[in-house]
Amino acid sequence: AAPDCERLFARLAAGLARPPELAALARGLLAAERLAEQLRAAAPDGASDDAPETRSGAALAALAERMSPAPEAARALGAALVEGPQSDYGGGVLRAGVDAAFDAAAARRGAALERLAALEETLRGETGIAGLKLGYHRTWGYHLEVTRGRLDAVPDGWERRQSLRGAERFSEPRLRALADEIEAAEQELIEAERGRVEALAADLAAQADRIRACAGALARLDAAAGLADLAAERDWRRPQLEAEPRLEIRAGRHPIVEAALGASGFVPNDAALAADGAGAPQLLLLTGPNMSGKSTYLRQTALIVILAQAGCFVPAERARIGLVDRIFARVGAQDDLAAGRSTFLVEMLETARLLHGAGERSLVLLDEIGRGTSTWDGLAIAQAVAERLAAGERGPRTLFATHFQELTALAGSVERIANAAVAAEEDGRGGLRFLHRVAPGAADRSWGVQVAAMAGLPPDVLERAAQLLAALEGGGRQPGVGPGVMPGAELDAVLDLPPPRSPEAALTDELAMELVDELAALDVDGLTPLEAISALYALREQARLTAAGALDTAPAVPAAVQPPLEWAAAGG
Ligand code: ATP
Repeated sequence: AAPDCERLFARLAAGLARPPELAALARGLLAAERLAEQLRAAAPDGASDDAPETRSGAALAALAERMSPAPEAARALGAALVEGPQSDYGGGVLRAGVDAAFDAAAARRGAALERLAALEETLRGETGIAGLKLGYHRTWGYHLEVTRGRLDAVPDGWERRQSLRGAERFSEPRLRALADEIEAAEQELIEAERGRVEALAADLAAQADRIRACAGALARLDAAAGLADLAAERDWRRPQLEAEPRLEIRAGRHPIVEAALGASGFVPNDAALAADGAGAPQLLLLTGPNMSGKSTYLRQTALIVILAQAGCFVPAERARIGLVDRIFARVGAQDDLAAGRSTFLVEMLETARLLHGAGERSLVLLDEIGRGTSTWDGLAIAQAVAERLAAGERGPRTLFATHFQELTALAGSVERIANAAVAAEEDGRGGLRFLHRVAPGAADRSWGVQVAAMAGLPPDVLERAAQLLAALEGGGRQPGVGPGVMPGAELDAVLDLPPPRSPEAALTDELAMELVDELAALDVDGLTPLEAISALYALREQARLTAAGALDTAPAVPAAVQPPLEWAAAGG
C-alpha cells in the first residue's frame, strides 16, 4: 500500500514532516518505483495502434515513466530510518551505522545507563536498604526512593528532593554525575539524529518536481485502479464515446440502487435519445406510478454519462454516448428560505437556468416539474417547457419524468417527443407490484393512494382519499382527460367546495363586476324619484344584456383561460 505522497510531500516542503511521515513518503516513492516495473511488464503489446488496450497501455506506460526511478534521496532516507520510527528524536528514529556521531552518543548513553543500574546495586549494598529504588521523574530527574520505615538508614550526604506519602526521594553525588553524563549523551544523540534526518529530508525535498510528478501519477493510478476494481467486481462495460449527440444505453443500471438491492434485484433498462430526433426521441416523457423507478432511471442515465466521460466503465451491457457538454438536472424539491426563495421559486429558477443554458449537446433531466403550484399552472408550465425543449432543429437530449398524464398527448403532436412508462401492475389485493421496466407508451395513472397506503397513512385518511379520487375521476378528472372537462355537481357535494369556475363563468363574473361598479357609482341621494326609477330600469336592461352577451361571446374566451388544444384533444 502506498500513502498519500502528495500530502506527505507538502508537509515535508513546509518543514512540518515528522519522522513517521518521512518514512511513509520514502516508502511510498519506493513502492511507486516497484509498481512502475509491474506496469511496464503488464503493458499490452501486439494490439492495433488505435485499440483501447493500446491506448490505455500507453497511458499506463506514461504513468510508469513518472513513477520511476525513485529519487536516490528517497532510497537513502528509507534506508536510514528504523522500521516504524518514533515521532520525536531521542534514539528511536535513525538506524545504527548511519551516523558516526549518533552512534558514539548512543554508545555513551548506553554505557552510562549500565553504570546507573550498577550504582543502584552498589548503593543498596552500602546503605543496607534492600528496598532502595532507582527512579526517573520528568521534572526532578534521577532519584533514589526510600520508604519511610528505612529513612534512618539514609546517609548524611544524600539530598532530599521530593516527599511522597510513604516514601522520600533523594539524590547523591555519584548519581548526579551519572545523570549529567546521561543527559549530555542524550543531547548529543538527539542533535546528531535530528541533524542527519533533516539533511536526508532536505535532499529529498530538493527533488520536488520528481516527487510531485510521481505523487500525481500514483494518485491517477489509484483512481483508475479503484474504477477498474469497481468495473471488474460489478460487471461494468467499456462505453463507446462519439461526437454525434446521441445516447444509446442497453440494459443500464443505477450503480448505487443496484448495490443496495443486489444485482439480481435490479431491473436494467435501455435508453435512447438523439439531439435531432433521428432514430430516437429527443425528449422522452416518462410516466408511471409513484415508486416505479422514474427518478432512478433519470439518474442512472446521467451517472452512466458522467462515468463514461470520466473515463470509467459503466453499469450497462452496452453504451454509446455522444459527448455531453453539460448536464442540467431539475430534481427533487428544495427551498432556500434564507435567501428568500420558496420551493416553487427554486424549482422555477432551476428550470429557467436549464432553458437558458441547455444546448444541443446537453443532457437535461426534469423530474417532476410544476408540482409546487396549482395543477393547471404546473401543467401549463410543464407543457410549455417540454415544447420549448423540443423546438428547433436539434435540442438537448431530455428525460422528462412527470405525473401529468395530460402531457403524454404531446407525443402525438410534437415529432421529437415520445412516451415511455415504467410498468407496474395490481397485485390483486389492492396493492401494487412494481416491475421497474421502462417501455414505450404512457402510464394511465399514478397510483398515489396505493403508495400512500404502503407508507402507512391512517386507514381513515386512505379511505377518504380513495373516495375523493373516485369522485374526481367520475367527475371528469379521469386520467388523460384535460381541464377542458370540468367536475360535475355531484363532485361538489363530495368535496364540499364552491363550484369551479369555467371560462364562461369567469367572463360572466367579469361583466357582472362592471354592473356592480356602476351600481356602486350611483349617486342615490342626488337622484329624483323619476331618475331613480329610470336608472333601475337601465341597470336591469344592462344585466339582462350582459347575461345574454356572456353566452354569445363564450367562444371569445381570453387565451389565458383557454385549455391548450392538446389537452382538450386528449380528453376527447
Ligand atoms: P415517485 O414518482 O414517487 O418519485 P419514482 O417513480 O421516481 O417515484 P424511484 O424513486 O426512482 O421512483 O424509485 C423508487 C424505488 O424503486 C427505489 O428506491 C428503488 O428501490 C426501486 N427501484 C427503482 N428502479 C428500480 C429498478 N430498475 N430495479 C429495481 N428497483 C428499482
